[in-house]
Amino acid sequence: VFIVFEGGEGAGKTTQSRLAAIWLREHGYEVVTTREPGATKTGMRLRALLLDKESTGLSPRAETLLYAADRADHVANVIRPALDRGAIVVSDRYVDSALAYQGYGRQQPVEEIAALNDWGTGGLVPDLTVLLELPPEKGLNRLSSPADRIESEPREFHERVLAGFRALAEADPDRYLVLDAGRPESEIRREIQDRIREMLPD
Ligand code: C5P
Ligand code: MG
Repeated sequence: VFIVFEGGEGAGKTTQSRLAAIWLREHGYEVVTTREPGATKTGMRLRALLLDKESTGLSPRAETLLYAADRADHVANVIRPALDRGAIVVSDRYVDSALAYQGYGRQQPVEEIAALNDWGTGGLVPDLTVLLELPPEKGLNRLSSPADRIESEPREFHERVLAGFRALAEADPDRYLVLDAGRPESEIRREIQDRIREMLPD
């Protein structure tokens, strides 16, 4: 079972993916928690390149390819092996982040980025994607560390990213659980648990 958390900055993806993993482990499942970009050794280096504010002038296509390279390495070295041995994988971001950020955010063709990522991941699609929705101004205010290269993009960029995630969720409603991330953490946690429970192996 492959579960992904998506959303903009400061929406609580990391918190909620950890809570879901703890809950699943309490029920006896083997869970691998992971994230993008930067889950592997090479991925860490790609993450540093991608988020460094010194990476000025990085072209949108190059950015898209670097995120896709990180993801391909992530699938090959972390996600696939874990799924193959029967573990539940919980990832903080996956392909839909590329479609939302590099597609909608950078205004590049979403279909082509989807095709690139389909190849890069060998066609691996999540069983469930939890979208945590939060207005960008709220999310960016929640961040504690200084903004990275992407977080420093203008507000309109982050608005497009959110609109992109919404469009993706609407296009594939069965795979998505869309939640208002402005609600109390415990309520969000419970709704996620209810949805995951329906899809678990016994
Ligand atoms: O989730 P986290 O904040 O750790 O992700 C790192 C950064 O990478 C985020 O600021 C996010 O906006 C950016 N990102 C991106 N395109 C992706 C995935 C993440 O711009 N495909
Ligand atoms: Mg961030």
